[in-house]
Amino acid sequence: MININKIVRPNILNLQPYSSARSEFRGKEGIFLDANENPFGNLNRYPDPFQRELKEKIAGVKKCDSSNVIIGNGSDEIIDLVFRIFCDPGKDKAMIFSPSYGMYRVAADINNTEVVNIPLDKDFQIDQEKTKPYLDRPDLKLVFVCSPNNPTGNIMNRETVTFLLENFKGIVVVDEAYVDFSEETSWLSRLENYNNLVVIQTFSKAWGLAAARLGMGFASEEIVALFNKVKPPYNISSINQQAALEALQDPGKKDRAVALLMKEKERLVNALSYSDRVKKIYPSRANFLLIEVDNADHLYKALVSEGIITRNRSREIKNCLRITVGTPTENDMLINAINNIK
Ligand code: PMP
Repeated sequence: MININKIVRPNILNLQPYSSARSEFRGKEGIFLDANENPFGNLNRYPDPFQRELKEKIAGVKKCDSSNVIIGNGSDEIIDLVFRIFCDPGKDKAMIFSPSYGMYRVAADINNTEVVNIPLDKDFQIDQEKTKPYLDRPDLKLVFVCSPNNPTGNIMNRETVTFLLENFKGIVVVDEAYVDFSEETSWLSRLENYNNLVVIQTFSKAWGLAAARLGMGFASEEIVALFNKVKPPYNISSINQQAALEALQDPGKKDRAVALLMKEKERLVNALSYSDRVKKIYPSRANFLLIEVDNADHLYKALVSEGIITRNRSREIKNCLRITVGTPTENDMLINAINNIK
């Protein structure tokens, strides 16, 4: 157990949060003359600032307690909030591994937090030894682990993540944006063991709600209270909360989409393995493939000219493209294009 208060930014610890009109009154019925809204219309009322109904439903599906749930305007907001809660700008540091999701560094830069960048090893795993010299530094506040990792698609070794959770006296953020595709046990199941664990998931991938901007965070009640203090009062619109509630009514729909996409991923792997220009297909536990090709810049541009947009990751991993698994028709078009491009 770590002492959370010792690692929170002092100004956040002492912050008197904004108390919105709706956070003081909990009922649904009443004559609302408290928030200077227009009394007419359908979307005229502010949403529940703590998204209580949605948190209950998420907790039911994820088998955790609603007091451990955070909801962000996309998981990107949760990533930004972790910096704002724990990292004193210009003073504290965050550890990231590369290649990984680019927003960790951008959020660090926005929050004027120095990054300790540890390259992943040849299997895209965390090199535990390389983390050791930094873990005792009091100015290192955050470690970001992405599993399955974007853009490499692999799961991070559980022993290494456990090592980080047990040896680092700051916050370990485990970003599981792609966990629904992986059949891996979520780190959510270990929340009770580690009070320095923040798990991030999202409605943007398997749940098919990227447009609604809904990220989920899971952490101790103490950390959830800090998020509630720092987040903008009404960060999730009623429309978006409703969209998530509807999706959660039928988790089977998400499961069927995942099953179809995983079948399509296998089909893509098989088809691409016959292509001369594809040198390597990295094993993926997510809904995308990282492929090494003969000339990524050329193939990327040629695909764009066919109207097919992929992600050119060759600046991070030489000659690699990241390709999201699409619909069966989209995947057929991709396979045809890759086979026919000169
Ligand atoms: N984490 C990872 C690893 C991602 O790949 C993404 C989006 N590409 C996000 C977080 C952000 O997701 P969102 O803000 O849509 O929830």
